Parts: sequence; structure tokens; C-alpha cells
Amino acid sequence: MANNVAKTAESVWSNCLKIIKDIVEWQHFKTWFEPIAPVEIKGSVLMIQVPSQFFYEYLEEHYVNLLAKTLKRELGKDARLEYRILVDSGNGRNGSMDIPASNQKTFSHNEMNFPLVIDNPVKNPFVIPGLKKMQIDPQLNHNYTFDSYVEGDSNRVARRAGKTVAEKPGSNSFNPLVIYGGVGLGKTHLGQAIGNEVKRLHPNKVVLYVSSEKFINQFQDHSRNNAINDFIHFYQLIDVLIIDDVQFFARAEKSQDAFFAIFNHLHQSGKQLVLTSDKAPKDLDGLQERLLSRFRWGLSADIQLPDYETRIEILERKMKNDGLDMSKEVVKYVAYNITTNVRELEGALISLLAQSSLNRKEIDLDLAKKVLRNFVKTSSKEITIDAIQKMVCEYFTVSYDKLLQKTRKREIVQARQITMYLAKAFTKNSLKTIGEHFGGRDHTTVIHSCQTVKDLMDTDSIFRENVMELTQKVQLAAM
Ligand code: ADP
Ligand code: MG
Repeated sequence: MANNVAKTAESVWSNCLKIIKDIVEWQHFKTWFEPIAPVEIKGSVLMIQVPSQFFYEYLEEHYVNLLAKTLKRELGKDARLEYRILVDSGNGRNGSMDIPASNQKTFSHNEMNFPLVIDNPVKNPFVIPGLKKMQIDPQLNHNYTFDSYVEGDSNRVARRAGKTVAEKPGSNSFNPLVIYGGVGLGKTHLGQAIGNEVKRLHPNKVVLYVSSEKFINQFQDHSRNNAINDFIHFYQLIDVLIIDDVQFFARAEKSQDAFFAIFNHLHQSGKQLVLTSDKAPKDLDGLQERLLSRFRWGLSADIQLPDYETRIEILERKMKNDGLDMSKEVVKYVAYNITTNVRELEGALISLLAQSSLNRKEIDLDLAKKVLRNFVKTSSKEITIDAIQKMVCEYFTVSYDKLLQKTRKREIVQARQITMYLAKAFTKNSLKTIGEHFGGRDHTTVIHSCQTVKDLMDTDSIFRENVMELTQKVQLAAM
């Protein structure tokens, strides 16, 4: 449409908005388009002003095609869009920076759409106007430290990676560090321990621990009140961001977008991310692939069920911290019978304490037996080496004879080693007895097997999955 009247930025933009309004949902229109102001028009380039970097990123990600199309209708096929991004510099003056839109390209989920890092100290109206970085409460529980976190084979990699992260937040190869594992195995404790350790070693670093549920709620509150920028800016102040239970993002598509923007900003600025999850990243259904692909940039470390020895150590550590005394006999009884997770182990200890003070009775084996009977239904049956052998044979379709013979075939050797490992973890038999159940091997063979299984679990994910699955089977059988 040839038109001699000089077009103004306002008229062009208002024509674009008319079309956009019909296409975009009302709520989205209000959130993402109403705050935009047309700035100027130069030839076929329209500049619009957006309130923040996040805004720009969001538009680029979700609406760049629509913007390009509507603009081309107004200004012809050479039309281009440029953004002016308002940067609140925190001293009352507003700065801005201008960047071109990527609307010449066809829109794809281009992960490189986030080239900007705004390093200006951002005034943060999210909590208190003018809030200084230092004043952000990290939301940490001081009891969750590395000292109180017992290391065992089940959590060694995760714990050590956590230590490294706490020592050198942001400048290590574990960014993000993803800690995953079942309930009650110590993910929250470890995540918090990292936060506490960072504060201890680097008091000036801004640490924040937040559950994904809380993050989602905050995000939703802020999007209702058109305050998404404040929300994003707040998170951009963090040096070490610990998000617990990221699996809950699966239900919250919009929050994932915000998290994605925050993740990118922090990662690009050399800030540390620590995430926990109840599943391995690859099994996190409902999370956007672009997020999952970022999780793979760092390290994913799992936490497994603690073995018998570690359970004993955890109980002893808790007793020491709480100034409790219990005979070794009782500690062993509790550790042996509660195999589900650490939370239940603690629960049993608390029940024991409660019962003993209620009845003014020492904690002895009798009391432990009584309390645990009500407390858990687990491990009512004693699992035998034979039963474990049978389960492993079935699982790998290996014959029982082969398992005992001196075959050197790799599958059979591994099946045998796993069986010994499980027998060690789930029965009270000595190494000698276990060896005898495998055609009279001696105890050093059993030790070697257990060590090999642990090593392989660290390096071979398929092997580890096999062992974990078998572990569950054995536990079920013991119920
Ligand atoms: P998750 O977040 O994986 O569900 P938590 O971190 O809440 O588990 O742990 C449950 C309880 O068990 C917490 O009280 C925690 O302190 C304790 N716990 C877990 N693992 C350990 C460990 N290795 N050493 C000491 N306590 C532990
Ligand atoms: Mg937790």
C-alpha cells in the first residue's frame, strides 16, 4: 500500500497491535504487548522499547514470527525490528541498550537467542526497593551441613561434587550440578549443605535455596501482577542458585520459560546452579528439551540407598549430634531393619527416643523391637543368599550352576559379582559365608567383587541401572 504520508512509529505500532490482538490470547497480550512502547522509525526499521532483557528474550522466543509478519505488512518486505531495552541501573537513572531483533530469520527454537548479559547492578523491587545483594536471605537450614552429611558409597560422587562446587562456585565443570535420587535419600540436605558451605567459605556470595514449587508460586504471583521483570531481576542477582525438586516444573510451562531465562543468564555470567530432582534428567517427563539439554552441560550425580554400614554411621552421627546414647546392638538392629531411606531411619530413631522417655525406659533391644514393629513393615522376612542368587539368575537369565562355576564369561562374572554385592548389602552373613555360597570362594574374592560393582556403578550407567533395579527387587522381597 503506497502511502505518501510519513508513517510514525506510533501509527505503525498501533496497526501491528491491532493484528496481534486478534491472534494472541488476551492475558498474553496484556502481559507482553501492552508494556511495549514504539520509539522511532528509520526507513524500514521500527524500534520498540521493552522493559527488560527478559522481556526481549521472551518476545524473541515466542513472538518473533508474529512480529515480523505484522511489521512486514506495515513497512514492506525489508521491515526490521529493533529493541531498546531499559536497564534500571539502580541509581535512579534509566539506561538503555539497543539491539536488533532476530526477525530476519525464521523462528526456530534457537538456543542462542540469549546473547545478552546485563551486568549492571539491578535495583530490585522484588523484595524491598533498593535491596542490596547482600541482604538476600539464602533460606538455608544451618543443620544441613557437609559435616552432618555422612559419606558412603551411595552418595560419594554427589557429595564430593557438591564439595567442589561449594569451594569454587561457578568455576568448576559441574555447572549445573544435578543431584538426583529417591525420596528421603538426602538431596535436600546435600543441596543445602552446598549453600551453607558457600556462605562459610565465600561470605560475600549471594546464595539462594528455593524449592521449585516456591519458585513457581512466586512466578505466578508476579505474572498476575505484571511484575515478571522484577521476578527475573531478583533471580539474576544470585551467585549460587539452588533449586530443589525440579521435577515439579513439569506442571508449569510458563515457569519453565522464566527458569530457562534465569538459567541462561546465570550460567553465562559464571554463576553456579545446583538442582535436585527425584529422577535422572533423562527421565524428567514434561520438562522442555532445551532445559534438559542444559542440565547435561554439567554433572548429574545420583544418590542411592545407603548400605548397611553407612546406615549405621548415619545413626551414630545423628546420635552424637543429639547427645544420645544407644548400645551398638540396638544401632545395628535399627540399621539392619530399616533399609528404605534415611528419613525413615531418622524417624525410627525419634520414635525410639519418644518411647524411651515416655516409659522412662532405657533404649534396649527389646524396646527397639517393639517400636520398630509398629514403625515399619519392611524387612519382616530375612532375605537369604540363596534367594538373592535366584533373583539375579532370573534377572539376567543365567543358570544357577553357571553362577557358581568358574566361568570367565563377562556376563556371568558380572552377575556373580552383583549377587555377592547384594548379599553383602542385604544379609548379615560374613564375607566368608557369602564366599562359601559361591562354590567355596574365599572372602577376598567377595571383597573384590563388591569393589568392582561399586566402581562399575560409577562408570557404567547400564550396569548401575541393573544393580539399582535388582536392589529394589531384593528390598521388595524382604517386605
Ligand atoms: P530428600 O530431599 O532426598 O527427600 P532429605 O535431604 O530431606 O532427602 O533427607 C532426609 C533426611 O535424612 C534429612 O533429615 C537428612 O538430614 C537425612 N540424611 C539424608 N542423607 C544423609 C546422610 N548421608 N547423612 C546424614 N543424614 C542424612
Ligand atoms: Mg527433598
